[in-house]
Amino acid sequence: MAMRRKSDLPHKICATCERPFVWRKKWEKVWDEVRYCSKKCSGSRRGARTSGS
Ligand SMILES: [Zn+2]
Repeated sequence: MAMRRKSDLPHKICATCERPFVWRKKWEKVWDEVRYCSKKCSGSRRGARTSGS
């Protein structure tokens, strides 16, 4: 049986790198809209290569 902890935070799968990431304080108001684990992932779409800076 799974034990529940207070420290259990919600998590999602990043749409870009497909890795799980955990809720962060800075996302508390936009959690429903968060799809990426980091700015880096939100800026680079999967399958699309970014060239240069
Ligand atoms: Zn990511």
